[in-house]
Amino acid sequence: MPELPEVETIKRALIPVLQNCQVNSAFVGRENLRWPLPKDLAKRLTSRYFTHLTRRGKYILMFMDSDEVLLLHLGMSGSVRIHQQKPNLGKHDHFMLEMLAAKGDGKLSYVVLNDPRRFGWIDLFAESAIDSHKLLAKMGPEPLGNKFSVMHLQEALNGRSGPIKNALLNQALVAGIGNIYASEILFLAGISPRRKAENIAGRRAERLTAAIVKTLRAAIEDGGTSLRDHVQPGGEIGYFVQRLAVYGRAGKPCSKCSSTIKIIIQSGRSSFYCSRCQR
Ligand SMILES: [Zn+2]
Repeated sequence: MPELPEVETIKRALIPVLQNCQVNSAFVGRENLRWPLPKDLAKRLTSRYFTHLTRRGKYILMFMDSDEVLLLHLGMSGSVRIHQQKPNLGKHDHFMLEMLAAKGDGKLSYVVLNDPRRFGWIDLFAESAIDSHKLLAKMGPEPLGNKFSVMHLQEALNGRSGPIKNALLNQALVAGIGNIYASEILFLAGISPRRKAENIAGRRAERLTAAIVKTLRAAIEDGGTSLRDHVQPGGEIGYFVQRLAVYGRAGKPCSKCSSTIKIIIQSGRSSFYCSRCQR
């Protein structure tokens, strides 16, 4: 499942193809993904320009010259491909934009959304409705934005008696962290995934804040490197090789102390940690 760094990487890869570029045509293969798709989506996108792209949590927001926003949510299994030649669409390719290059040389490129499990979504809505949008309205601050600080985190965790691992996954507290980076962040911070969220204070809260920022920044850098270094087969973007210290490493030695990395299930999701380094 793509988390903040993967979505940020996809957004960066889409900017050259979409920003200031005109939609030549759009293909919408289904009436619904996780939820129904907007009515007349293809028609409403055709001939429009994208003005700029941003990311909020795990969503990509593509602003258009119609004062509307196209929102892309990759869900569990969504992926994006960019092609320079018109591709033959596969069974799970549900959406495609045929884009005219900004240079005006008539060159076309193609952005395809593939989503086998269909937990993703596409929405198109007025820019003025952005703050009340059902996926965005209750979202917590961006961990790499100005509003995120130890103070914010401390406040967000206050009175939460559940484990810190679950709190990190709560998009209303902090945006964009998923199951993989939650384990990585807690390892870097030296905090047990089982510790009660409300008991994180002082130096621990400082370490956690720093670990969130550092882990996500490093992963975004890896994503950027993947975009520069190799064109992925089939044009798929955003799934780069993550450098993971604990996630998926149960039974292997901890990179800090050589103790065995453990796995536990919290709210149905696996957490990986070192019980000696993380308290
Ligand atoms: Zn250790």
